[in-house]
Amino acid sequence: MGKALIIGAGGVASVVVHKCCQNSEVFEEICIASRTVSKCDALKEKLQGGKTKITTAQVDADNVDELIALINKEKPDIVINVALPYQDLTIMDACLATKVDYMDTANYEPLDTAKFEYKWQWEYKEKFEKAGITALLGSGFDPGVTGVFSAYALKHEFDEIHYIDILDANAGDHGYPFATNFNPEINIREVTANGSYWENGDWVETEPMEIKRVYDFPEIGEKDMYLLHHEELESLALNITGIKRIRFFMTFSERYLTHLKVLENVGMTSIKPIMFEGKEIVPLQFLKAVLPDPASLGPRTKGKTNIGCIFKGIKDGKEKTYYIYNVCDHEECYKEVGSQAISYTTGVPAMIGAMMVMTGKWKKPGVYNIEEFDPDPFMDALNKFGLPWKECHSPELVD
Ligand code: NDP
Repeated sequence: MGKALIIGAGGVASVVVHKCCQNSEVFEEICIASRTVSKCDALKEKLQGGKTKITTAQVDADNVDELIALINKEKPDIVINVALPYQDLTIMDACLATKVDYMDTANYEPLDTAKFEYKWQWEYKEKFEKAGITALLGSGFDPGVTGVFSAYALKHEFDEIHYIDILDANAGDHGYPFATNFNPEINIREVTANGSYWENGDWVETEPMEIKRVYDFPEIGEKDMYLLHHEELESLALNITGIKRIRFFMTFSERYLTHLKVLENVGMTSIKPIMFEGKEIVPLQFLKAVLPDPASLGPRTKGKTNIGCIFKGIKDGKEKTYYIYNVCDHEECYKEVGSQAISYTTGVPAMIGAMMVMTGKWKKPGVYNIEEFDPDPFMDALNKFGLPWKECHSPELVD
């Protein structure tokens, strides 16, 4: 079918590469390009020999001209952005200049402001329409599969959805006192920010970790979970018409939160640059350098994740509730692709999103969030490529 240019060679990219190679009918060729080319070469080394042809390249994705030159040289059908959220706009600019489709898993964030908002990327809508190319935003798990679950629930289960609670549980244990499951800088920026949820047309802001609930997750058991702001709330609030409230909860252990509090109190999670021995450093970036690399957690992590959405709404004039979720086992993921479940649950939907665009099922000029497309082919692909979903028609609700 075609060729994808994968930008980034970290935890998520590694799963994307494995999954593209398992789907060589669509991904006949891939080019893995990142800042550190040795990481791309290591991935190629691990996976070459199958049907998918793999090449590698060095690129600084903050530099639009370098990206344009690379895209012109490689001539991909799509660019899969699994670098960091800071690179979203430069990569979108390069796609516009070369008229190549674009896809990512996280919304743009300026380096100096920890704020998730789609406004910067939504501003590209008209330009993408005029160029005749598709940008698919947020094709990971959350955002990503959570949006597909919402579109599926609206299409098949409800006439109107009034309430959505997105629940993200990780019962994995890596044996370290403190480590983050994906890029520590991005993860810590997310969990130290104020929480918020959408209710009756407005944002309600909370202190970080102010709202706590306990939920008994299928296949995992009872966990403490906390309300966070999360980027899909913004697009779902617009795209699921009639919605009254959307909240996002993530589980954290006491131990994780205690470490985080201490790091915050001593200033290690700050993104404001400071001078250290004559050199400017960002405390959070320094912290990232001393924490375990998320990619190294794979072989040590045991347990499962459970991520899903609970819906409440109306069908045929009657109130109903519905829960769709996926349970993923860290050790099984490691056995299959050499990564833990956090990278796996992001990398699989990234490959599927790219496949939807490349096969023309989701090709539409403009900039779109995932719930704006037909969920059915994506839901089928989740079952096929390692993230089977389950449903429950009488779930425990979150108060
Ligand atoms: P990693 O830190 O493991 O990998 C990031 C990769 O991007 C590294 O290979 C890094 O290169 C590369 N990179 C960074 N800056 C540049 C640059 N300027 N030019 C070229 N390459 C660059 O992150 P993850 O794999 O954990 O996460 C990847 C993305 O997935 C992130 O955007 C994250 O927010 C998103 N994500 C989304 C989730 C979802 O469910 N939607 C869940 C988890 C993550 P180098 O090796 O040189 O540092």
